[in-house]
Amino acid sequence: IKIKTNYSNMSQKFKSFIKLLKERNPNQPEFIQAVTEVAEDVIPYMEECNPAFLDEKILERIMEPERVVSFRVCWEDDNGDIQINRGFRVQMNSAIGPYKGGLRFSPTVNLSILKFLAFEQVFKNSLTGLPLGGGKGGSDFDPRNKSNKEIMRFCQSFMTELSRHIGSNVDVPAGDIGVGEREIGYLFGQYKRIRNEFTGILTGKGPGWGGSLIRPEATGYGLLYFVEQMLYERNISIKGKVITISGSGNVAQFAAIKAVNLGAKVITVSNSDGVLHDKDGFTIDKIHFITKLKNKGSRDFKEYTDLYDSTFTPGKTPWIYPCDIALPCATQNELDTEDAAFLIKNGCFCIAEGANMPCTMGAVKLILKSGISYAPGKAANAGGVAVSGLEMSQNRIGQCWTEEKVDAKLKHIMHDIHNTCTHYGKEESGKINYLKGANIGGFIKVAKAMCAQGIV
Ligand code: GLU
Repeated sequence: IKIKTNYSNMSQKFKSFIKLLKERNPNQPEFIQAVTEVAEDVIPYMEECNPAFLDEKILERIMEPERVVSFRVCWEDDNGDIQINRGFRVQMNSAIGPYKGGLRFSPTVNLSILKFLAFEQVFKNSLTGLPLGGGKGGSDFDPRNKSNKEIMRFCQSFMTELSRHIGSNVDVPAGDIGVGEREIGYLFGQYKRIRNEFTGILTGKGPGWGGSLIRPEATGYGLLYFVEQMLYERNISIKGKVITISGSGNVAQFAAIKAVNLGAKVITVSNSDGVLHDKDGFTIDKIHFITKLKNKGSRDFKEYTDLYDSTFTPGKTPWIYPCDIALPCATQNELDTEDAAFLIKNGCFCIAEGANMPCTMGAVKLILKSGISYAPGKAANAGGVAVSGLEMSQNRIGQCWTEEKVDAKLKHIMHDIHNTCTHYGKEESGKINYLKGANIGGFIKVAKAMCAQGIV
């Protein structure tokens, strides 16, 4: 199918929707950004192909979370002082399955950020083809410079409140920025203690206690499986291509490993302090070394730059280096219009998002206009939640699948998402608008379920 989208000439319907969106969500710029990007594709689609969804006010309903819980999280630090943080869970949409989505612990967390993430999650989860609704949660707690015991006490206090709102068929949180296997462990332990029940209420668990193999790798691996498909579509091989990656967390690490294993040359990783550049490219050993340094708390990767011919540039991002493929894997709005202009001018032909909404709205507009390949996070980074879905399946039937089995399923899901994007995103020129494809493809399944389930 071909849906024409003329971004400069949006309909009255679109304009009144955006007005409503802004009125209802004052001071929530990230949420407004995420919803607007979807509305730009979905409203023209509904007007042209499916006016029934307009009559049913599906998009107006999707943008309103089904439930938002906000709670106090008190805990004692190592000095015995009382600390107070805010906890949230946004239960966005349960039309196609229980709420599913990560928990983010970061001082940047607020309701606008969590609502945007939960909104994106609805579409992403729908694209995986698995029965997963969308949600997101977290806290403004800053895990940096906290002792292990402080992290544990915080997680226990957070779960004491959250436990009454989740369940293996209700809402299944997972990790996100600041929440990895260690935090999932403390959260899971506390839930079990409160409910005396060993069930799959969280994903991203350790492999020995209900976790799925390949879950830690899934987002990064899935991103590369998706990129491979994008390149395949254009008859380009990934071998020898220069890739810049931002971030140095779980997504960035495994994206780098998979890219190197596929024969690409990865030249950067980064953190919020700056960018590490190695013009010779990372080997797998070098990536493991970087991970070790990061886990030790190194912010400037000094031991790396001492050992290898490389540089750490404070205050800069990877987007100052020319590349063939850019993979933003850090956080929202980390790649702006200027960065996009630089990358395009210097020969970058593919940008795929490992993080959620890492490109600003201006950057996305420019990238789409330039005609280079662009994959939004809700398609390209869906591998993480997809394997979370597979973890839920394994927990339900009490089985542990092999690495090969999970990896094969992940690959299959990423290929299916690519097909969906191609199906709904093919332009008249033959080019694929992955953003449009992902938005419309993700939307239709949820919209149909909502229509079937009545006005709720
Ligand atoms: N936080 C990840 C995401 O943004 C994973 C969520 C999950 O596994 O539930 O998709």
